[in-house]
Amino acid sequence: MSRPSSAGPSANKPCGKQQHAPSPAAAPTAAATISAAGPGSSALPAAAISGPGGGGGGGGGGPVSPQHHELTSLFECPVCFDYVLPPILQCQAGHLVCNQCRQKLSCCPTCRGSLTPSIRNLAMEKVASAVLFPCKYATTGCSLTLHHTEKPEHEDICEYRPYSCPCPGASCKWQGSLEAVMSHLMHAHKSITTLQGEDIVFLATDINLPGAVDWVMMQSCFGHHFMLVLEKQEKYEGHQQFFAIVLLIGTRKQAENFAYRLELNGNRRRLTWEATPRSIHDGVAAAIMNSDCLVFDTAIAHLFADNGNLGINVTISTCCP
Ligand SMILES: [Zn+2]
Ligand SMILES: [Zn+2]
Ligand SMILES: [Zn+2]
Ligand SMILES: [Zn+2]
Repeated sequence: MSRPSSAGPSANKPCGKQQHAPSPAAAPTAAATISAAGPGSSALPAAAISGPGGGGGGGGGGPVSPQHHELTSLFECPVCFDYVLPPILQCQAGHLVCNQCRQKLSCCPTCRGSLTPSIRNLAMEKVASAVLFPCKYATTGCSLTLHHTEKPEHEDICEYRPYSCPCPGASCKWQGSLEAVMSHLMHAHKSITTLQGEDIVFLATDINLPGAVDWVMMQSCFGHHFMLVLEKQEKYEGHQQFFAIVLLIGTRKQAENFAYRLELNGNRRRLTWEATPRSIHDGVAAAIMNSDCLVFDTAIAHLFADNGNLGINVTISTCCP
């Protein structure tokens, strides 16, 4: 169990450029000061990533016959090149457009004709049910073909779905492979502190800052990188809450090999949360939405805070399956 040397508290502003002023700590326990990562909306675009268009142009290396490809290409949306899947609606002249695009259009993109009233194409729906469609991430390596009803569920968890920047807040639009995530964080998010060791203290400063605020730091142990996130937001109107969670920079499968514990401790009180880290592939937004993390309100935060700074003990362990 290594307790790393520390960085003392520093004043942090919840926006843009953060300052990180390390100072020697007197306490034997390591603590890192966490910069507020930025105000504003903290919604990560969890699964809402528009990947490369369905099979448009092909190129995926799956065992799909040319005839089959010709068949699936009949379902390509002329606007987004994703597949037009049931319920399949056509314009007055019979052109198809996918349901997402249809909602944003006032006329048919092919003939400019009216899209209303909605005309359903049951024959195409029947064909769609008999065809296996390639995964949306075929171009990045997924070779699965699926029944259209199974596609969305698979694509949500498809390991070829690009990773989004794990930093909370919707400001960074970076996407890329898992291997590229750490170098992205090191180059684009230099202000994030990293502590080594399985047992560290995540010290969030200025927890009284108004509005939605994120505090982020990295923890490195067991040959992996973990991202610790404390987020303050108003999930219910007029009711500020804190959400703390640990993410693994890794796949969901890798995350299952670990457990984390978050503990608030002080003033003769203790609040503990233990769980499996979430993969950054899943992001924090859904966990916060479902309160699947350490959740506490401002009153509890004040019970544990010291001068507006809140220390959270973070312990990561491996669990043998
Ligand atoms: Zn479309
Ligand atoms: Zn048309
Ligand atoms: Zn896939
Ligand atoms: Zn980023």
